[in-house]
Amino acid sequence: MTRIAVAGPRGNMGKEAVQLVERTDGFTLAAVIDHRFNQGKMMDAEGMADLDVPVYKDVDSCFTSEKIDVLVDLTNPETGKVHLRKALEHRVRPVVGTTGFSEEDIDELGRLAEEKELGALIAPNFAVGAILLMKFSKMAAAYMEDVEIIEQHHDRKLDAPSGTAMKTAQMIAEVRKEKQQGHPEESEAWAHARGADYEGMKVHSVRLPGRVAHQEVLFGGEGQTLTLRHDSLNRTSFMPGVKLAIEEVQTYTGLVYGLDQLITLEGDQ
Ligand code: NAP
Repeated sequence: MTRIAVAGPRGNMGKEAVQLVERTDGFTLAAVIDHRFNQGKMMDAEGMADLDVPVYKDVDSCFTSEKIDVLVDLTNPETGKVHLRKALEHRVRPVVGTTGFSEEDIDELGRLAEEKELGALIAPNFAVGAILLMKFSKMAAAYMEDVEIIEQHHDRKLDAPSGTAMKTAQMIAEVRKEKQQGHPEESEAWAHARGADYEGMKVHSVRLPGRVAHQEVLFGGEGQTLTLRHDSLNRTSFMPGVKLAIEEVQTYTGLVYGLDQLITLEGDQ
């Protein structure tokens, strides 16, 4: 039985993760971590079923009082970073869906996971379809180097571009022939009209109420275009990936960044 703690259980993602853990054979919800709840109280926040598990205000007290195998963090980048570090220090394997980590954060957390000889996972996107979109985009970029990414999210999202867009751009850059796209003399009458620039490709972030998580990768070539698109229509789309992550993080050592590392396709490089 895998004993799991969920941090951020009142959040949109956290609520789904709590339900996933509760209904999955082989998983036990051992505790939740919520900075607004008094320790020991039952969670009876609006919109949530009462949870018959201990609530902790911080990870340290949770890990010293409970036996936890895996921490699932769905909070915010500052908190997620602290939670990941503390989990490893307490020999708990972290599965972090929180987005907004810098490359330096990821490197530092990776070193800590190696040092502790524990598995850890940071996944900017748990939706299997989004992972496939990233992989297909990388395949296409080997042949079509003109590419722009448009990601769309709800307007409560804190970070931009999305972790998925950043990861997609990084994966594309591994195979794409280097190129500064657009007209060499193009100019912007309004700042950022052409979007963010990553190694010459452009990334655009849309934030609107009503959206969940959507991404298009547009390729252009002589007389042709190719558009790849993925839509997460609700947050249940992320849960099969969370389940896979909880199972897999117990089988390796070191930090894995991205669920794409755990889903292999024929022809993957
Ligand atoms: P959300 O609805 O705002 O939920 C975040 C929750 O974390 C809130 O309940 C918040 O409580 C709580 N929280 C903040 N600080 C905390 C702390 N110190 N201890 C415990 N709980 C704390 O956000 P969301 O939509 O669920 O997203 C959460 C994170 O997951 C974001 O980083 C988002 O970008 C990311 N995300 C990832 C994926 C993926 O597939 N990997 C998909 C969607 C979203 P208060 O509101 O009371 O502060």
